[in-house]
Amino acid sequence: MEKKNINWGELGFGYMPTDYRFISNWKDGKWDDGVLSTDPNVVISECAGVLQYAQTVFEGLKAYTTEDGRIVCFRPDLNADRLEASCKRLQMPVFPKDRFIEAVREVVKANAAYVPPFGSGATLYLRPYMFGSDAVIGVKPATEYQFRILCTPVGPYFKGGVKPLTVRISDLDRAAPKGTGNIKAGLNYAMSLYNIVDAHNCGFDENIYLDPGTRTKIEETGGANILFVTKDNKVLTPKSDSILPSITRRSLMYVAKEYLGLEVEEREIELAEIADFAECGLCGTAAVISPDGKIVDHGKEICFPAGMTEMGPVTKKLYDTLTGIQMGKLPAPEGWIEEIM
Ligand SMILES: *Cc1c(COP(=O)(O)O)cnc(C)c1O
Repeated sequence: MEKKNINWGELGFGYMPTDYRFISNWKDGKWDDGVLSTDPNVVISECAGVLQYAQTVFEGLKAYTTEDGRIVCFRPDLNADRLEASCKRLQMPVFPKDRFIEAVREVVKANAAYVPPFGSGATLYLRPYMFGSDAVIGVKPATEYQFRILCTPVGPYFKGGVKPLTVRISDLDRAAPKGTGNIKAGLNYAMSLYNIVDAHNCGFDENIYLDPGTRTKIEETGGANILFVTKDNKVLTPKSDSILPSITRRSLMYVAKEYLGLEVEEREIELAEIADFAECGLCGTAAVISPDGKIVDHGKEICFPAGMTEMGPVTKKLYDTLTGIQMGKLPAPEGWIEEIM
């Protein structure tokens, strides 16, 4: 298969339409067979549930080329499970897990020419999503839905090298106690846009959100979970039911324990204790782990010993081990790598 003529190393994180997207419609209480389409446009009612009441959920995962030339995805079964949880919370039909994985496989195969070669650092980002597509004016769930998976090639996250982030403690919340913080819904992002633009205007890379109930504990950033490393090399991550369960974070915690032999713990983490930690990283599909060198809490700077020029030693080991597993250089736990072609 001939690859597209794209300068993979120069790609950013933006939308570039590819040849095919997967589309399936829910109508009269069931999903249709689904098709691969060359049409990048969606045509829906002006009164669609997604447009009026934000009834939409999404996922994000990557397809990439391993060192030995296979095209694979990382743990798409967990994306299917999480999409199911998101759909149930917003009263949407579930797209069955086996069909989800099959649709991922189909759309990646159809767009294989856009899967960046090994070593480029670039990947094919997949965006599965679902929305209420028929007209709703009274507040109630839609009766028709569309599930799609679009793909777009994206560049290496650490273009020009790793640069630790500076993040601030946010005064606004991204989630409510017992709200929707634990599902992957567009609505959680709409209300974070003001705050991320404001953070950037103030010279910060991201916002750290506190628990919305007491505003004393660390939760996550707008789009990434948080890991801390203590001075005695224990890997910690906040426990809260308003955090989005990141697949990368869950994988890193497993890697820390099973591959690196580190102690790991998911527990409530007080804002007041983070100044004692050695390293901090933000984790998600896009970057795997992005080191956070500094957290600013209303003028008070918390500077992690790893500094502002490189990843801390444990963060680096976690990053190298998980990306090694993903790229086929290290043996993967059973079921982590979905081989597509
Ligand atoms: C998607 C997302 C993450 C990262 O999840 P991954 O499965 O690791 O990509 C973290 N936080 C939020 C709020 C998210 O939407």
